[in-house]
Amino acid sequence: MDSQFSIVPGWSWVIALIFGAAIGSFLNVVIYRLPRGLSLSNPPKSFCPICKHSLGVPDLFPLFSYLLARGKCRYCHTPFSSRYFWVELLNGSLWAVIWHQFMFVQYDPLRTGFYCLTTAALVSVFFIDWELYIIPDELNAFLLLFGIVYQVLNKTPLVGVMGALMGWGMLTGIAMFGRVLFGKDAMGHGDIKMMRGVGALLGGPMLCVNMVIAVVAGLVFGIAMLVIASRQATTDAAVAVVESTEPVEGGEGTGEQPTPVLAAEEEELAPESIGSLIIHGAWYLFCLDIVGIFAPGIYKWIGENPSEELIEDDNWKPSLTTIPFGPYLAVGAVVCMLFAPQIEKGLSNYWKTVTHAASLEHSGSKGFVEIEPNRLNCRAGYSIGSAMSGAGWVASDSRCDVTGGSQWNKKI
Ligand SMILES: [Zn+2]
Repeated sequence: MDSQFSIVPGWSWVIALIFGAAIGSFLNVVIYRLPRGLSLSNPPKSFCPICKHSLGVPDLFPLFSYLLARGKCRYCHTPFSSRYFWVELLNGSLWAVIWHQFMFVQYDPLRTGFYCLTTAALVSVFFIDWELYIIPDELNAFLLLFGIVYQVLNKTPLVGVMGALMGWGMLTGIAMFGRVLFGKDAMGHGDIKMMRGVGALLGGPMLCVNMVIAVVAGLVFGIAMLVIASRQATTDAAVAVVESTEPVEGGEGTGEQPTPVLAAEEEELAPESIGSLIIHGAWYLFCLDIVGIFAPGIYKWIGENPSEELIEDDNWKPSLTTIPFGPYLAVGAVVCMLFAPQIEKGLSNYWKTVTHAASLEHSGSKGFVEIEPNRLNCRAGYSIGSAMSGAGWVASDSRCDVTGGSQWNKKI
């Protein structure tokens, strides 16, 4: 596309891959230490969690060290979690794609830098939220700060502020809506804080695309998890029934063993009060959670003690159907960044098509009259199709008459 402007060679994504994988190695430290309240800089060296042998340069070369040692500690031969390898590979691959998109296809070093670092933060969010159902405040503060700094350097500070407000507003709105109408906790607080930062970086329109991707991904995986959970429950029930055929006193209840456990677990968690939701919503609007990282004392104002919330004391085990939404939001944000040029072009084409159609319709101009009535039905599909073909996603619009569409385009 605009590759004649790029000053970097096409193969240079390899460098981004290696750098990304090296940062991925640091992200593994972040993913383990940050939610556990451990210092990121002390101990400065990584060590084997089993034999405590500190790991040197040959152990820490991204990707290759893991493969060469076949995923084991070189000193005590205890296998490491494969997550270490996948996080490095994932972050390296994402950085390579961002580099290719914004340094080679386009030339936008500012975006390349900010998108790479934000993606790294979101990779950490994904793994921490997936495992522990929390998103550390430090990562959310990082996201907002980077989003705003990017927009300021891009000379569009208002886009950043509006995006942050939209991200905060949408997620707080969903949380309120779910709580008031269904009496349930619909959204985690970490998700509100995260989308406040992501919104600042992406801006309003892309934030909406991010939300759509997250909801669709969440629904698809959520339904898959529910199916798996219900199958497991029926298997458990069948096992319980077989066991209960043995003559045991009180055998009546044993057939339904798994159900009371689940019910009790869910009953313990009363939903958050609406008042608390309002107070916390305002807290995040004014970014007091970020102030609180440096001055934890301010949590006393709302009667909280953040040090009580260390995960080590937290024995809460979510049921299989509890799905954290944060990972899907993070995936949506990363997809938006990777395909930002295509999504932005698609959005603006779609907007142009819609507004032109509306203005033609309004003025009763010829351009509208010339469309045959049977084509009118597919106008919505047509405008999406042409937006997509403008973005380079589809070669031509196959759903509606191609020639008719392009002629109409020319008239506009
Ligand atoms: Zn070891």
